[in-house]
Amino acid sequence: MKLFRKGSSGREVRDIQGRLLAAGFLVDDCDDFRRSYFGETTDQALRGFQQQRGLIADGIVGPDTWKSLVDASRSLGNRFLYLREPPLRGDDVADLQRRLNALGFYSGKEDGIFDDDAAVAVEQFQRNSGLPVDGIVGTSTVEALVRLSRVTKPSSVAPVRESEKGLPTGGITARRVMLDAGHGYPPDPGVTGPAGLRESDAAERIVELLGRKLVEHQAVVIYSRRRGEYLTEGERASRANEQSVELVLSIHMNSSADPRAGGASSYYFASGNYHSPYGYRLANHAQDELVSSFGFRDCRAHGRAFPLLRETRMPVVIIEPAFITNPGEEAMLTDDSFVNSVADAIFEATLKYFLGIKSPAEK
Ligand SMILES: [Zn+2]
Repeated sequence: MKLFRKGSSGREVRDIQGRLLAAGFLVDDCDDFRRSYFGETTDQALRGFQQQRGLIADGIVGPDTWKSLVDASRSLGNRFLYLREPPLRGDDVADLQRRLNALGFYSGKEDGIFDDDAAVAVEQFQRNSGLPVDGIVGTSTVEALVRLSRVTKPSSVAPVRESEKGLPTGGITARRVMLDAGHGYPPDPGVTGPAGLRESDAAERIVELLGRKLVEHQAVVIYSRRRGEYLTEGERASRANEQSVELVLSIHMNSSADPRAGGASSYYFASGNYHSPYGYRLANHAQDELVSSFGFRDCRAHGRAFPLLRETRMPVVIIEPAFITNPGEEAMLTDDSFVNSVADAIFEATLKYFLGIKSPAEK
């Protein structure tokens, strides 16, 4: 699709502004809206929207942001919701999941994707409410949900329910872990460092060493892709779902236009007022291990709604141990003993996670 950013104008900009407005971001008290012009206030509204939805806040409407703007304009009861392929998505689905969650019928991600778990929850709700059990969310099901939601506490129940199900304990033996080396050259090398190191190669090397350590400790390791193979984020998510893994670790390198930027960061699933307590725990363990091992800057764990985090059914953490655009960190990434200690740090974090140990951020 065409990209829209500061300076764009026309019918599409007007549509974007309308959706931002509907989502509660102010664009109307200025010239922008009257002129269908993408100016300063539209830019600010869009960045706020992107931030809230876990997108990269770059002020540009591309395919991901557009999809989120469309999702945001759906509200429960305006269309039928049911299981189909590809799944229905939107804020109406997230609202449905939130309500089912609060009522104790659902304990999956409130990610706005109507998947098998959501369908099962709908049928259970219908059975319990004396409605016809057809798995279709139409008028009568919405009415019953809204009526019951009024007498229960609405939001923020999800993380509680997920932890009731139990954060993993009992160790790493026989756990099914998917390792995902980001990108894949060719055709997608990711970011290339100033001395020529490709992000995809650096990620593959860490994944290889981490895989060995996990196997040594009796985990079952599944690789999302072969060396040199390329998959989209969505394809990686489907592989993880098909293989019923319990955890996905995805390795990338960070990058910046500023060569001085450096440090380690991690990402877990979060959207709106929901976040994955599993992802949060593991991402914070990873940060702690990486930062204490190398004295790297702590660029912290962040909640995001990237496709790999959003479209997977199990906890997923994306780890960026270093900045490939920082000449010093790039050089370290080509050093075998450094790469091995990165793999060690991530392994330790994974082990703590499966042992059920709280991360420092939770204490
Ligand atoms: Zn990357």
